[in-house]
Amino acid sequence: MIVVMKSGATKTDKEKVLDRIRELGYKPHVIHGTTRDVIGAVGDERKKLVLQQIESMSGVESVVPILKPYKLASREVKKEKSIIKITDEVSIGGRQLCVIAGPCAVESEKQIMESAEAVRTAGAHMLRGGAYKPRTSPYSFQGMKEKGLKLLAKAGRMTGLPIITEVVNPETADLVAEYADVLQIGTRNAQNFELLKKIGKTKKPVLLKRGMSMTIKELLMSAEYIMSEGNHRVILCERGIRTFETATRNTLDLSAVPVINNETHLPVVVDPSHGTGHVRYVAPMAYAAVASGADGLIIEVHPSPEHATSDGPQSQTPEAFMEMMAKLKLFAEAAGRTL
Ligand code: PEP
Ligand code: MN
Repeated sequence: MIVVMKSGATKTDKEKVLDRIRELGYKPHVIHGTTRDVIGAVGDERKKLVLQQIESMSGVESVVPILKPYKLASREVKKEKSIIKITDEVSIGGRQLCVIAGPCAVESEKQIMESAEAVRTAGAHMLRGGAYKPRTSPYSFQGMKEKGLKLLAKAGRMTGLPIITEVVNPETADLVAEYADVLQIGTRNAQNFELLKKIGKTKKPVLLKRGMSMTIKELLMSAEYIMSEGNHRVILCERGIRTFETATRNTLDLSAVPVINNETHLPVVVDPSHGTGHVRYVAPMAYAAVASGADGLIIEVHPSPEHATSDGPQSQTPEAFMEMMAKLKLFAEAAGRTL
């Protein structure tokens, strides 16, 4: 249920409502709107009639059911788009696009420093790099782990770019959260509910990738797992899904972007690197992503893709990234965004 507060409701009104929601056995989530607050009351749906009583409390405008199964993520609970602040300089979901770039994996100090400098010079807003890599084969490079986190953090400090890196299990979540500005949940873990719940208890924004076989509804339910634990700063990511097509690594489902924008207030970014798997297709799909209404992009860039330990064929060189960023500016303007 959603408890819509009146625009003139006082702090005491709100606190009394929160207490009452808890008394009735529900978990309240305050969502700050531009003119008024709404409180999402989430819990056992069978008892929802008793929540209607709250309508008579001071400062309450109305109590209405949330029809969508993804309650906190839905547009029903929050009409305006959420702008997620990462640092004082970087946010996502506003007019300005947010471009995240860097290598698939942190491989060495030299490699991550060079990558960070290159993407910053080209105008990226955030640095990516995996320290824990979930690989299809147990014999492939698994990431530099904590050493990788340290190097990524150093590269972030050196360039002034916030950093994003993947969390692969609940055990290392707190460690990763000590270093990262944004936590990434990869496609293979997008329905690892224990991990999502754990991440929901951290205070860091989360970039949640779509599982390669997940429907959009399932993606939003995974976002709901994170949000229902109290962490509302979720950024969704379309990164391609499995289809019968083999010309590309995945099929980048750009139609997911307007659907997500219609269904939820959460920002959405597109990953054309994993979405296509081939560097020559990355830039065209990045432009298309902006046209489709994405709030940002996540792009793999490597100083020497032919030597990359993972995802070399889909990684741009710094030069290719620079060229793409220059052209992206024109597409951003056409879409009413800035870069
Ligand atoms: C990555 O970002 O390098 C990655 C492993 O992505 P995905 O989970 O989308 O495959
Ligand atoms: Mn990768």
